[in-house]
Amino acid sequence: MTAQPSTRVDVAIQGIRLLDAPVSRRSGAGPSDDGHVLLNGVGAAIPLNPRSPYSVRGGRLLLDGADTGMGVEAVARPRFYDLQTADGTSYEKIARLHSSHVLATTVVQTCVRYEESERCRFCAIEESLAAGSTIAVKSPAQIAEVAKAAAELDGITQMVMTTGTSNGRDRGAVHLARCVRAVREVLPDLPIQVQCEPPGDLSVIGDLYDAGARSIGIHVESLDDDARLRWMPGKGSVPLAEYRA
Ligand code: SF4
Repeated sequence: MTAQPSTRVDVAIQGIRLLDAPVSRRSGAGPSDDGHVLLNGVGAAIPLNPRSPYSVRGGRLLLDGADTGMGVEAVARPRFYDLQTADGTSYEKIARLHSSHVLATTVVQTCVRYEESERCRFCAIEESLAAGSTIAVKSPAQIAEVAKAAAELDGITQMVMTTGTSNGRDRGAVHLARCVRAVREVLPDLPIQVQCEPPGDLSVIGDLYDAGARSIGIHVESLDDDARLRWMPGKGSVPLAEYRA
């Protein structure tokens, strides 16, 4: 292995201290508390860690003060963050920039598994809602409006939509499909990835495709049932067979 890939992996684990990152995520679905940067021009979401041995000076990544040979550039705050909908909701609360050209949104910011005893140990989906930095449910129209602005003002080239898990058999996939369809009506060529738990009715996956999604992440996280139940007491109770269906 060359030095640079191992540095990328190490800094993704250990984070960077004193990183001035205008685009960051302090909480939300899945892992968060990161700053978005380009490492040698390639996007990365890096933990903001005051105890990290990595730091940045003059656009260079330093390890214990020594230049690693890797360039670091913070992703600039996108222009669409300064806009708001007619009802006064900030666009930034509806969708966020990830890396330099990816628009991301959590279409439903609550999860049926978010009780303390059930939640995934790496997830903070409802913390951003409690902090007022997002809204509970994004409508298809709101997401389409923000996506259009982000494409026109900031040149986003792809989109990711995830969701907290709902109580329904679809586990949130039906609302995802509505949101995908709305975005593709205003941006017909925008590649969209969706993320959800395995829906009870697999035909919903066809609905997501018909709406315009071309990639789906159904994240099992681990194939070890003991690890799944330890790290994801709620989600880990979904049988692996549902992921293999
Ligand atoms: S299933 Fe787990 S990772 Fe997904 S939103 Fe719920 S608590 Fe977070």
